Amino acid sequence: MDNAVRKVYVDNAATTAVSEEVLSAMLPFFKEIYGNPSSLYQLGQEAKAPLEAARATVAECLGAKPQEIYFTSCGSESDNWAIKGAARAQRRKQGKTHIITSAFEHHAVLHTCQALEKEGFSVTYLPVHQDGMVRVEELEAAITENTALVTIMYANNEIGTIQPIGEIGRVCKEHGVLFHTDAVQAIGNVHIDVKAQNIDMLSLSGHKIHAPKGVGALYIRSGVAIDTFLDGGAQERGRRAGTENVAEIVGLATAMKRATETVDERIARLTPMREKLIDGVLKIERSRLNGSREHRLPGNVSFCFQGVEGESLLLLLDMKGISASSGSACTSGSLDPSHVLLSIGLPHEVAHGSLRISFGDYNTMEDVDYILEVLPTIIERLRNMSPLWDAIQTGKVNYDSYM
Ligand SMILES: *Cc1c(COP(=O)(O)O)cnc(C)c1O
Repeated sequence: MDNAVRKVYVDNAATTAVSEEVLSAMLPFFKEIYGNPSSLYQLGQEAKAPLEAARATVAECLGAKPQEIYFTSCGSESDNWAIKGAARAQRRKQGKTHIITSAFEHHAVLHTCQALEKEGFSVTYLPVHQDGMVRVEELEAAITENTALVTIMYANNEIGTIQPIGEIGRVCKEHGVLFHTDAVQAIGNVHIDVKAQNIDMLSLSGHKIHAPKGVGALYIRSGVAIDTFLDGGAQERGRRAGTENVAEIVGLATAMKRATETVDERIARLTPMREKLIDGVLKIERSRLNGSREHRLPGNVSFCFQGVEGESLLLLLDMKGISASSGSACTSGSLDPSHVLLSIGLPHEVAHGSLRISFGDYNTMEDVDYILEVLPTIIERLRNMSPLWDAIQTGKVNYDSYM
């Protein structure tokens, strides 16, 4: 179809397409090698070997040992298990009831911490600065004798900033505090070595790296005390019950291997795309890049456009074939702007006009050119209908410091 709208999927931070390589690796486990890995007969054992090979692969990608990798149903489950499991074990064994996290974590972490507050834990939500970074000094200052756990995300899903994980790991180790990181967005974009970075627990998810939805993993360093999350059978060394999702675990490992082996290539390919997009978009008046330009994922950018409403922007982009996302939480039926954008100090009105573009392995420079071609007209169109834009133009409101 010649006149078909060009399709540009740039919401890879929300989810990614399953790659051909991952799909072919998974297929045999649906119809041929369908045995239960816990069964002793041959069909079961045929599934057991690839399961353990997948564990070894994921471990190798992180610099961990195979017995330190636990498969889960998603990144959210990994976060829940790490934080609840370790916090409760710390309280029981050492009487510690304090947790440190940051204000801009994924909800899988934030809501988990809030749930623990109801169980009597106290939680410090470290501020995130304008550059989208937590400060290691502030983290260190927040640690007390009572601190059971620090949980800080490796890279933020909304604005793409990468946190100083190695330094945080060192500080936690010095103070004898457990350190968990949600690395769901970081996998494939940074070099991770859990031992060198002193990471005690790390969460990851399949569907952000071209594996399917519904599979994840949690690295738990040997010796970390953590409660069981799902009671039942003896799977995952008795710590996470449930018959293993062998096909998707194999898919996850295949995607992890590819993502990890190609980190440098990915950085080299996506960074120029990101930089061109930033340069092009910032030519639009009263636009801003959210978070540090330097410490960010190669394929993740977040902008705000004053006098623009994020949801309308997404709808007009969609009509041009572009699937992107906004930082605002409109999908949850709430008019509150994203907690991430508020955490970096943006006023509600500015945070409301946000746009996140996140590249994956299938995006190209042509996608960037297409976005730069259609975006300015859409912004202008929306501003022409916006009372807020009028107010900005006539100086009734002033957001000059948020450009
Ligand atoms: C997507 C995401 C999650 C949740 O992973 P699921 O597999 O969708 O549960 C957690 N943390 C971050 C940073 C994410 O981007």
